[in-house]
Amino acid sequence: MVADILIELGIEQLDKTFTYLVPEELINTIKIGMRVLVPFGYQKLEGFVLDIKEYKKEDYDYELKNIISLVDSFSVLNEELLELGKYISEKTLCTLISAYQVMLPTALKARQKTNVGIKEKSYIVKNVKDEIILEYINNNKRGVKQNELLNNFIKNNKLDKSLYDSSVIKALEKKELIKIIKEEVYRLNNDVVIEDKHITLTEKQREVADAVIDNLNKSFTYLLHGVTGSGKTEVYIEIIKEVIKQNKQAIMLVPEISLTPQMVNRFTSVFGKRIAVLHSGLSIGEKYDEYRKILNDEVDIVIGARSAIFAPLKNIGVIIIDEEHTSSYKQDNHPRYHALDIAKKRSETHNCPLLLGSATPSLESYARAKKGVYKLLELKTRVGKSKLPIVNIIDMKDEIKRGNTTFSKDLKEKIRDRLNKNEQIILLLNRRGYSTFVTCKNCGYTHKCPNCDISLTYHKTTNTMRCHYCGYGDKKLMQCPECGSYEIKDLGTGTQKVEEELNKLYPSARIVRMDVDTTSKKGSHEKIINEFKNEKYDILLGTQMIAKGLDFPKVTLVGVINADTSLNIPDFRSGERTFELLSQVAGRAGRNDLSGEVIIQTYNPEHYSIYLTKTHDYESFYIKEMNIRKQMKYPPYYYITLIRILSKDYMKGMEASKKIKDYLEKSIDKNSIILGPTTSIMYKINNVYRFQCIIKYKKDDKLRGALTKIINHYKTNKDINVEIDNDPNKL
Ligand code: ADP
Ligand code: ZN
Ligand code: ZN
Repeated sequence: MVADILIELGIEQLDKTFTYLVPEELINTIKIGMRVLVPFGYQKLEGFVLDIKEYKKEDYDYELKNIISLVDSFSVLNEELLELGKYISEKTLCTLISAYQVMLPTALKARQKTNVGIKEKSYIVKNVKDEIILEYINNNKRGVKQNELLNNFIKNNKLDKSLYDSSVIKALEKKELIKIIKEEVYRLNNDVVIEDKHITLTEKQREVADAVIDNLNKSFTYLLHGVTGSGKTEVYIEIIKEVIKQNKQAIMLVPEISLTPQMVNRFTSVFGKRIAVLHSGLSIGEKYDEYRKILNDEVDIVIGARSAIFAPLKNIGVIIIDEEHTSSYKQDNHPRYHALDIAKKRSETHNCPLLLGSATPSLESYARAKKGVYKLLELKTRVGKSKLPIVNIIDMKDEIKRGNTTFSKDLKEKIRDRLNKNEQIILLLNRRGYSTFVTCKNCGYTHKCPNCDISLTYHKTTNTMRCHYCGYGDKKLMQCPECGSYEIKDLGTGTQKVEEELNKLYPSARIVRMDVDTTSKKGSHEKIINEFKNEKYDILLGTQMIAKGLDFPKVTLVGVINADTSLNIPDFRSGERTFELLSQVAGRAGRNDLSGEVIIQTYNPEHYSIYLTKTHDYESFYIKEMNIRKQMKYPPYYYITLIRILSKDYMKGMEASKKIKDYLEKSIDKNSIILGPTTSIMYKINNVYRFQCIIKYKKDDKLRGALTKIINHYKTNKDINVEIDNDPNKL
C-alpha cells in the first residue's frame, strides 16, 4: 500500500502530494484525513493523508520512502472537510494545504511545533468488592483517616485523589484495596447551571422562528432583520431547541466571543454542557479540547468566531450567523475566505437552513433578501415595554465656537443627570480610522476624489492628497473651498485623553475604560463587562468593541463622542460602517423598562449615514446607499477583486503592477473595469512597498483563469509577491 501525503512546504507555495509506502504495522490503522509523519529531504514533516492505494512498483521510477508514524489515532479531516478544502482553495485561489490548515485548531494542524496532549486528573477507585472494604473498615478501628477515605466509597465510585493524604493512599494501595486511575479532564471549565428562564416567544418572534423551523430539512438562506433588543437570541435558541429534538446539531457564529460573554452564558444556561466554544481567546490546549469534544460527538452546539464554521459536526441541522454584517467574518489574510460562503456550502451539504441575523444587515445581504435570493424575516420592535432610544444629533461645529471640543453642552448635562439618577452611561470614542484624511474644522468639508467619491489620503512624503483607488492626485488644501477657513486638520482624540477630561468634569463618577490597552490580558473583557453590569462603574468608555451585543438594563444614555472618524476612512463602505456602528451602539441604550437616549456628536450632521440613525431608518439608508453604489459601480452592483503587489523594491513593484494591469486588460472581459495600479493606503509596511489594482466586474468568466496565471507567474519570483483578495473588506 502507498499513501498520497499533502505537506506544507513553507514559502515555495508548492501544492502537490508526495507518495509514501505504508509500513506493514500501519496498514490496518491508517485512514484518509489523518496526520502522519514522513521523511522529506533531511527533515521529518507532518502531512495529511489524502489518498491510500495499491502499490504498483512500475508506477514509480524512484524508490519510495516509508511513512514514519501516525500523529493521531483519528482523522483530523473528515470527508466533508476534505471536500470543503478544495472549495476554499478554488474560491480564494489559495493552496490546498493552507485551506486544510486554516480549518483546524493549532494543535491539530500538520505542523510539528505544537505538541499538545490531553490533560489528565487522578482518581481513587476500589480494587476489591464492597464486602472486603467493609470488613477492612470493621477490623481497622484505629485507622481513622483510612476509614474516612474508604467510607466515601459508599456514596461515590471514584474519589478526587488531590483531596486525600498521600500516605493514606499509599498504605491502602499497598494493601491492594484501592488503585489510582487517570481520566481526561477538559481544560475549559464549564461548570454550568441550567436555569432556563422559560421565555415565551412573542407572536412576532414565534412567526420568525417557525419560518425556519417549518423548513428544517432544506438548504435555504434566511435574513433576520431585527432591531436591537428585538430578541433575536431567543429566536436562535428556539430554533436550535427544535434542531436538537431532531437529533441534529447547530453552529452559531458570533463576531467575537470575548465581547459577547452574555450570549454564551445565555446558551449554556439553556443547553448545559453539550456546547463547545471556539474562539481566539482560548489557549491552544483549550481549543484542542473543545475541538475533540466535537469529534467525539459530545456536543450539540458549537458557538464561536469565524473559524468555528469549520467545526466537524456530522449532522448539522442549522447554521446561524449573528451580526452577519461584521467584517471579521471575512479572514483578512491568506486564505481569504468568508465564513458566509463556507456556511452556504455546508448548508447545501447538510441540507439545512442558514440563518443570518442583524439589526443592520450588510447591503449585499439585504439586497439579496429584497430580490428573494434569501428569505427576509423581520422583527421591527423591541421586546416588551422597551422602546428604541431617542437619538439626538449634535453639530460640533456650533459647539466648537462655544469652546466645547470633546463634550457638547448637551452631553455634559445628560451625563450629570444620569449620574444623579444612578443610571449608567456608555461613551463611544470612534477611533477606527486613519489620521491621514483631512477635514475642515469649521464646516466639516472633506477633500474627496472626484472619480471615486472617497476621501483622499494625505501623503506626507510628497505633501499631496491621493486617491488610492484610482491614483488621482491633488495638492494639499491650505484653505477650505467651502467656507474659506484655514482650520483644516485631522481631529484625532484618544480614549485616555477623554478619560482624563471625564475625571475632571465628574470627579466622583466611577469610570472604566475598554480599549486595546485595557483588554490585552486574557479574560479582561469579561471582567470589565461583568463589573459594569454589576454597577461597579457608572460610565463605560470605549472604542468599537463596546458597540455590539451587550445587554445592560441600567444604561439609559449612550454618547458618541466623534461620529465622523469612520465616515472619513477612504473606503466605499465607510458610510455603511458608520451607520452600522452608530445604530449598534445606540442599541445599547434603554434595553429595559428605563427609556434610553443617545447623543451623537458630529461635524457632518447632514450626512445620511448619520442623520438616518436618528429615526433608526435602515430602509432609507439602504436606498440612499444603494443609489451611490450603483452610480459608482460598487458592490452589490459590481463584484470587486483586489490584486495587491508587494515588493521591497519600489521600481520593481511598480513595474510588475503595470505589467499585471496590461495583462488583465488583454485577458479579462471587456466590460470589467480595472483601476490602478496605485500605491495602497498603507503604501509601505516593514519596508515592503504595496501597490494595488482593483477590478470591478459583474460577470467575468475569464477573470479566474487570468488571476491564476498571474499567481503562478509570480510564485517563484523572489522580488514580487502577489495577493488576490475577492470581495475585500478594505481597499
Ligand atoms: P437582540 O439580540 O435582538 O438585540 P436580545 O436577544 O439580546 O435582543 O433580547 C433583548 C432582551 O429581551 C434580552 O434581555 C432578552 O432576554 C429579552 N427577551 C427576548 N425575547 C423575550 C421574550 N419573548 N420575553 C421576554 N423577554 C425577552
Ligand atoms: Zn470649511
Ligand atoms: Zn479616485
